[in-house]
Amino acid sequence: NRVIGILGGGQLGRMLSVAASRLGLRCHIYEPDAAPAGDVAYRLTNASYEDRAALRAFAESVDVITYEFENVPTSALDLLESIRPISPNRRALAVSQDRLEEKTFLNGIGLATAPFADVPDERDLPAALAQIGTPSILKTRRMGYDGKGQVRITDPAQAEWTGAPSVLEGYVEFSAEISVIIARAADGQIAAFDPGLNVHQGGILRSTTVPCGLSGKITTDAVLIAAKIVNELDYVGVMGVELFVAPEGLIVNEIAPRVHNSGHWTQAGCAVDQFEQHIRAVVGLPLGDGRRHADIQMENLIGNDIDRLPELLAEPGVQLHLYGKGEARPGRKMGHLNRIRS
Ligand code: ATP
Ligand code: MG
Ligand code: MG
Repeated sequence: NRVIGILGGGQLGRMLSVAASRLGLRCHIYEPDAAPAGDVAYRLTNASYEDRAALRAFAESVDVITYEFENVPTSALDLLESIRPISPNRRALAVSQDRLEEKTFLNGIGLATAPFADVPDERDLPAALAQIGTPSILKTRRMGYDGKGQVRITDPAQAEWTGAPSVLEGYVEFSAEISVIIARAADGQIAAFDPGLNVHQGGILRSTTVPCGLSGKITTDAVLIAAKIVNELDYVGVMGVELFVAPEGLIVNEIAPRVHNSGHWTQAGCAVDQFEQHIRAVVGLPLGDGRRHADIQMENLIGNDIDRLPELLAEPGVQLHLYGKGEARPGRKMGHLNRIRS
């Protein structure tokens, strides 16, 4: 029985390990944070990404390494990869760790992104603003998630600095946000889930709805874009591709080289969900049937949303997932639910 090493002990790693467990596989999770989500279905190592002895022991205890978190330091990845294969590959990680590299890569393969400018330092901001204009969004190149590290700029005179090397993006007047969750196997087989309609609040995903209600042309184009990205990267695993539906066409917002919050609906909507699809891909099993058999609305439970737990537990047609995290701080993802609509 092969053991899968997962970098990152958040809810995504937890749900990956549950999927692996159903396939009779074991997981070993590496998590620098002292209090990761959950407690079951895997062995845990709590050690930093600088702890070379712990990294080495972790790598030697597993057969293949994957991740639920793309911001693992390069030095740790170099060491891990000298011992065991990492899937998805390092190029996919490098491209998605850095918004400047990500957009440059996407444009380089002919895909549209928001107009952007490199802003290495605060003193480069005026020139970038002159080029991109307003409204625009300044985003740190690295480490941002859930809208963190972002500054919206409407008046150049009042622009704030993010505090780290950034990109300035032109604001896209989108009519909708969608995402494609796509899996690719080592032999090039691809399975894409139906695109979902995403609603964000305060930079955090609030809900995903499938079907997304957009035309077949848009959804097919979105899947083709996602397929192009994973093929170009020779990618193995599940990827989340976030897109804006804009008057000028589909625009790629960002890619996540892992299972994705907007793919949680697949747990209730498909025979094989995104977590199992990812595990299958990284251990070299054929991909499963990702066809959607129900209409689903996924809703995140953020912060004190979980105070609604009694009523949510009583709601018919609801599949509830709780991450076993402690305190319900504002903005913290505590769980999600999948409402089965048909
Ligand atoms: P995630 O948690 O998805 O990784 P993130 O911190 O990487 O989030 P983004 O996806 O870049 O953040 O942006 C968060 C949200 O902000 C987007 O889903 C979208 O609603 C809005 N947004 C980001 N960039 C733009 C843009 N250029 N134009 C318009 N809206 C944008
Ligand atoms: Mg992101
Ligand atoms: Mg995003």
